[in-house]
Amino acid sequence: MTFEQLGLSPALLQAVQEKGYTEPSPVQAQAIPAVLSGRDVMAAAQTGTGKTAGFTLPILQRLQESGPLKPHRTRALILTPTRELAAQVADSVDTYGAHLPLKSTVVFGGVKINPQIARLRRGIDILIATPGRLLDLHGQGEVSFDDLEILVLDEADRMLDMGFIHDIRRILKLLPAQRQNLLFSATFANEIRELTTKLLHNPVEVEVAAANATADTVEQWVYPVDKKRKSALLRELVETNNWTQVLVFSRTKHGANRLAQQLDKAGLEAAAIHGNKSQNARTRALDGFKRGKVRVLVATDIAARGLDIAQLPQVVNFDLPNVPEDYVHRIGRTGRAGASGRAYSLVSADEIKQLNAIEQVIQRHLTREYIGGFEPEHEVPASAPLRRPQKSGQNRPKHSGGGVGDGKHTSRGRGSEGHNRPRRRRRSRAGAKAS
Ligand code: AMP
Repeated sequence: MTFEQLGLSPALLQAVQEKGYTEPSPVQAQAIPAVLSGRDVMAAAQTGTGKTAGFTLPILQRLQESGPLKPHRTRALILTPTRELAAQVADSVDTYGAHLPLKSTVVFGGVKINPQIARLRRGIDILIATPGRLLDLHGQGEVSFDDLEILVLDEADRMLDMGFIHDIRRILKLLPAQRQNLLFSATFANEIRELTTKLLHNPVEVEVAAANATADTVEQWVYPVDKKRKSALLRELVETNNWTQVLVFSRTKHGANRLAQQLDKAGLEAAAIHGNKSQNARTRALDGFKRGKVRVLVATDIAARGLDIAQLPQVVNFDLPNVPEDYVHRIGRTGRAGASGRAYSLVSADEIKQLNAIEQVIQRHLTREYIGGFEPEHEVPASAPLRRPQKSGQNRPKHSGGGVGDGKHTSRGRGSEGHNRPRRRRRSRAGAKAS
């Protein structure tokens, strides 16, 4: 399959080629023709599958074919849950639309509203927005949806998790009835199903193979350790393995701040990124991380969601998430675009419940390893046996099967003793899991 075969225009094909993509990812191969046909689309796809190009490219093509702009109006609206994701989608729209005369802009909270108002004044082809700021702008009469042709809800499951359902309902009421709707979501829990039934008309369903590619492209370990020694273990891992860029997940904002401060004090350049940080602080931290100035980026699940940081070699779970699906999202930050990645979880005895839930979702027991000098006083209990996954499957995430670059690499099973593993004396305890 090539991008040409999907029916994209020369201007878009040129942009894709300049970006260096050689073939469409599975989600793109399915979504692009569906969007071009004008139908509603419901896609099960998470970050790392190439979903952004999957909706951006055909939207650009469709808009290219229709009428001129009117003041304050927008023709396509892309709603995202976080400011970071909004900014990244906006970058993609710029990149793929580089050879088209279309106008796009992004609006989100936490920054001044006046420059956003100025950009909306003459009308916009594609508006990327977070829900709260969009409603503010609409309330002030600065944006109108009268000419809206296409609506995208990106990461819809996360929008609901973050409590945006009321804002979304309010926005939907403002839109013209005649429009194309595209909904992208990593999971299809009941709440999302409800929304899709109301929102989508006879949608094309796009689903990338639920082949659980995360298990193949990301090597995963659990390091049992006492809670109070986690920070020291993390420092040890970063230093002995000379990691220059590591994303560390923290369950709480407070925990993220504290850890970043501790690391900084110990001489490791670190920054925290979470919802309480100002937009400028977040952008600074992310830029520093991308440019190699910040060695350790500590993020909460929500802040990390959708961050496009290319080729992250490893991620560390400083603590396990309460929602097991978040584990899948977290480790999806590494091993992207076909490259293999590594995920390490520092797990203390009180996290056994979360560990069991995660192992159930990913349908495998994670290998436990003990780092010399950090063996826990409080042993992490043995994992529970795995139960068969539920038949309905509706509450389980579509694991990132069908990710960008899938099929171009050979999978490495958990048995492979990776050559890039951290250099550190350790003892493996094969019997740590229950069978
Ligand atoms: P997304 O799932 O949209 O966040 O995209 C994940 C990453 O894959 C981004 O860094 C994209 O630039 C990249 N990407 C998207 N489509 C392709 C493709 N067809 N070939 C290679 N990389 C791609």
